[in-house]
Amino acid sequence: MKCLKILVDLDGVTFDFFGPMTDFWNQETGSNIRYDDLINYDLAACYGVTREEFEAVKDRYEAISDQALLPFVGEAFESLSELNAEGHKIVIGTGRKPSLQEMTLRCILSRLPFIDQIHFSKAACIYSNHSGLTKQEICEMLGIDLMIDDFPSEFMEWKIKTTPWLFTQPWNKHAQHEPRGQWPEIMQYVRSLA
Ligand SMILES: [Mg+2]
Repeated sequence: MKCLKILVDLDGVTFDFFGPMTDFWNQETGSNIRYDDLINYDLAACYGVTREEFEAVKDRYEAISDQALLPFVGEAFESLSELNAEGHKIVIGTGRKPSLQEMTLRCILSRLPFIDQIHFSKAACIYSNHSGLTKQEICEMLGIDLMIDDFPSEFMEWKIKTTPWLFTQPWNKHAQHEPRGQWPEIMQYVRSLA
């Protein structure tokens, strides 16, 4: 079997940030937003509020939330464990902001101890403005074969041979991009390369 180097995004691919954040939003504001309503990566737009209103609640959420308790997205844990057991190298690439990076590292090391490397990227994400390498630059530097992300903007102006895989979520369902799918399709794809 060919052993791949796979770069995996955190939010929306490995850990479910959007679901618990939306539950918190509903509790705080009396709203009734469902996961399937999150059809835009910009949560403020999904919630129908200004960025300032959104950031105020998000700051409160981040102050009390523990990433160690975030649920995995679908079969993320089983799939990553199996990929690791099959000899593939798993690298986490996330645009987490600096104030959350230490907590993120602790969380990954305790919940996914087999991860090969963790990189904090300069994300194309609207929530991230810190400097660093883009995910494309990280993929090129590490010779990544497959990059999995739920944010199609990360794939814009893609110039390298890494295959960019769009992890399907409500906020990207209209994006024109292949290959795409969730963990079962990713596992099928990786095994088809064997
Ligand atoms: Mg993401």
